[in-house]
Amino acid sequence: MDIKVAKFGGSSVADSIQIIKTRDIILQDEGRNYIIVSAPGKRYEGDNKITDLLYLCKTHMDHNLPWEQLFEVIVDRYVAVAHKLGVDGVLDEHFDIIRQKINEGSSTEYIVSRGEYLNAVMIAAYLGYDFVDSAGLILFDDKGKLLHDATDAALSEELSKHKTAVIPGFYGSEKGSTRIRTFSRGGSDITGALVAKAIEASVYENWTDVSGFLMADPRIVENPKPIDSISYKELRELSYMGASVLHEDAIYPARVANIPINIRNTNVPKDKGTFITAHHDPNSNRIITGIAGSKDFTVIALYKNMMSTGRGFVRRLLSILEDLDVNFEHLPSGIDTMSVVLSNASLGDKLDEVISQIKIQLEPDNIEVFQNIALIATVGQGMTSNIGVSARLFTALAEADVNVRMIDQGSSEMNIIIGVENNQMGDAIRAIYGAFEDEEI
Ligand code: ASP
Repeated sequence: MDIKVAKFGGSSVADSIQIIKTRDIILQDEGRNYIIVSAPGKRYEGDNKITDLLYLCKTHMDHNLPWEQLFEVIVDRYVAVAHKLGVDGVLDEHFDIIRQKINEGSSTEYIVSRGEYLNAVMIAAYLGYDFVDSAGLILFDDKGKLLHDATDAALSEELSKHKTAVIPGFYGSEKGSTRIRTFSRGGSDITGALVAKAIEASVYENWTDVSGFLMADPRIVENPKPIDSISYKELRELSYMGASVLHEDAIYPARVANIPINIRNTNVPKDKGTFITAHHDPNSNRIITGIAGSKDFTVIALYKNMMSTGRGFVRRLLSILEDLDVNFEHLPSGIDTMSVVLSNASLGDKLDEVISQIKIQLEPDNIEVFQNIALIATVGQGMTSNIGVSARLFTALAEADVNVRMIDQGSSEMNIIIGVENNQMGDAIRAIYGAFEDEEI
């Protein structure tokens, strides 16, 4: 039998109605033996996530404000859900321990991890699965860096003793200590991927509130088509532009173990969702897999006569950025020209300093700065084997009156990145989508 790992995100376990849905999903497939849960998320627009309330508890504590009332709001939420699920009282002793630890001044990471902990204890009782704590299994070093090999070994050893288990997402502990460490926000996705790798799952199902990825942002394109299958590489290209359904770091463990990730919708379980796989689906006849855009980049364009025959220009340019701790996104180049694309978030208020250092150290003949630039990535492994893709893309942009300020095609040939003015991003994405929506190889 194929063993599966199913991770349920915050909205899938936000209340008893959602948790009952997850049980129905789990029971539908006898391979769904290892379940990872997030803390309860928002039940409705404007609601609070338990994790956010726990962060708030800690802030109250740090400012000597009463945190107890806030904690009781959290307790009440779990108590009501436990009652509806018929597992009353299962969390009582855990609440007492947490209260006591908070009183003793426990760390932020301990406090915020309790959302997942309590949910996993409760859901394990409800399903009749074992509760397996992530502390002692998901292992970090003392700087909070995940220890992949040690985690893999600890998880596979422990889980081999449990036929079925519910495991809390988001946290683990320092190797050789009881100190709780967490991933960054949304990190339960990573826990799921690590468990999938450790038990050599046939698939890592990631249950959320959307039926997988869409070819474009539905706030920009009306009714974009769903993506049935996407390779890890394609996803990486799209997600760095902000198309985020899955935590970025969840991809690596699944990828090295060659385990497909299936994004599914808890509210519409009949939808097949998106499969993220090692290789491009050979049956897919789509040229373009997806389009993603992100605003607020700055392009610094440099011209220097005979740049291409000189030595060290790029190295010196990059070391200026490194010294000033600014990340670069792209580095399109021509014969005697070179542009560097920087995200405003990384640039902060260092633009003047970057420019003055470039002028001093590189002495360009000309330097131009374009601000308010949006980058749009059009991604698809189907592009590599097809002639005329860029012609179609740029024709569509011209017809939509979009002024393209920058072009960069990754050497993998599976993406074309263009830079346009921020206010033309929507038009550009719609134009590209329109040009490829029905295009098949
Ligand atoms: N509960 C954590 C958060 O809200 C982790 C997660 O849900 O994945 O970020």
